[in-house]
Amino acid sequence: MPKTTKKESIASKLAKKSPMKTAAVIPGTEGHQPVSAFENAMIQFDEAAKVLKLSSSQIAVIKQPRRITEVQLPVRMDDGSIETFTAYRVQHNIARGPAKGGVRFHQNVSLDEVKALAFWMTYKCAVADIPMGGGKGGVIVDPSRLSVSELERLSRRYFAELVDLFGPDRDVPAPDVNTTSQIMAWFMDTYSMHHRNHVPGVVTGKPLELGGSAGRVMATSRGLLFATRRAVARKSEKLPGMTVAVQGFGNVGSYSATLLQDDGCKVVAISDVNGAFHNPNGIDAHKALAYSTKNRGLKGFDLTGMAKKMKNALDILELDVDILCPCALELQITGKNAQKVKARYICEGANGPLDHTADKILDKKGSFIIPDILCNSGGVIVSYLEWVQNNMGYYWTEERVNSDLERFMNKAFDAVYDTMKVHKCSMRVAAFAVSIQRVSQASELRGLYA
Ligand code: GLU
Repeated sequence: MPKTTKKESIASKLAKKSPMKTAAVIPGTEGHQPVSAFENAMIQFDEAAKVLKLSSSQIAVIKQPRRITEVQLPVRMDDGSIETFTAYRVQHNIARGPAKGGVRFHQNVSLDEVKALAFWMTYKCAVADIPMGGGKGGVIVDPSRLSVSELERLSRRYFAELVDLFGPDRDVPAPDVNTTSQIMAWFMDTYSMHHRNHVPGVVTGKPLELGGSAGRVMATSRGLLFATRRAVARKSEKLPGMTVAVQGFGNVGSYSATLLQDDGCKVVAISDVNGAFHNPNGIDAHKALAYSTKNRGLKGFDLTGMAKKMKNALDILELDVDILCPCALELQITGKNAQKVKARYICEGANGPLDHTADKILDKKGSFIIPDILCNSGGVIVSYLEWVQNNMGYYWTEERVNSDLERFMNKAFDAVYDTMKVHKCSMRVAAFAVSIQRVSQASELRGLYA
């Protein structure tokens, strides 16, 4: 029998440091302190490792990122000057296949964040049971202040600088926050020019004209819809008539809103960097999407009369709705505001939107949380299907892709749900238990090379 690790978890260390030890605190949330995304990810790992009774040797091989690369990218700006941008690629684990995960362009990117995101990718691919490991990249940049040609030079320089890390059998990037199919096309072209070969399988999320997959653009949201349908059915409830709030109106949030609406839900609030917009009678998500595409965001959406602007954008998280979809960034619901969250279903379109204290509080309140590594795995599932199609050079219809996606999502959901029942734990712990078990087994079967 493997021994449980004796290492103290970050959660318990933080709890000891904290002066808050009163009885009013929800059990398990004592000593809440803000944690970083990576610290939070490590706490999530520790909780599932405890359930699995993993040995310290097993943990040593699969918990931490295996390769971290940081580079400075010099880029010629349109005015002739040169600016440098800090960029990362983290390969967390490749036991089950090539590293897989997006590249994020955002002013708040940090190494801590990219490590957390790479970690989640390892376990996301494993919970979805696709043969890929986990990786993530990021560039510290606000892309909205770059011209299209500056953005192209930055994207190409990122890929060229890290070209040895990437490859269809090594590490396969994809879109993430602020990176588009056009950027994937530049990545693919840069790699193909270096290799003097046409290599579409080196990135996913490409335009259809360049070997992208039908269904990829809406895949994350469609996966979220499938998972939500499954959750609601398990609780013997029905989606039609349920109210929805969506935080984040980028690729994932906007299509989640339209798909849930098409399934009969009423979207009552949406938000993006320009603020949160609320209408208890319902917002037409398709019209909101058209508005946001045309205006490059929801700025001024209240002036259309379709919704009122909320005073505080974060209040969207506290609305009395059936379904809350956090589809923006990490650590949006924490020990600070979780108590005020009223949604019965929390469908995590974003990666890491809840911290471990929020998890405890919301579990206690009875919210059903579909954790990120399960809920938003539709994107990487269809990325995998894109990679398969690239490797074969034969392309499927959107119906075929969507039905495969549904099969993968349902299978993953059921595995997590059943594990939750067996271990009497949360959906998050169950999702990590299922996926950590798979990564650990793959790793043990491979053994150590030297
Ligand atoms: N960036 C997406 C995610 O966080 C997609 C990753 C991929 O398709 O490789 O899951």
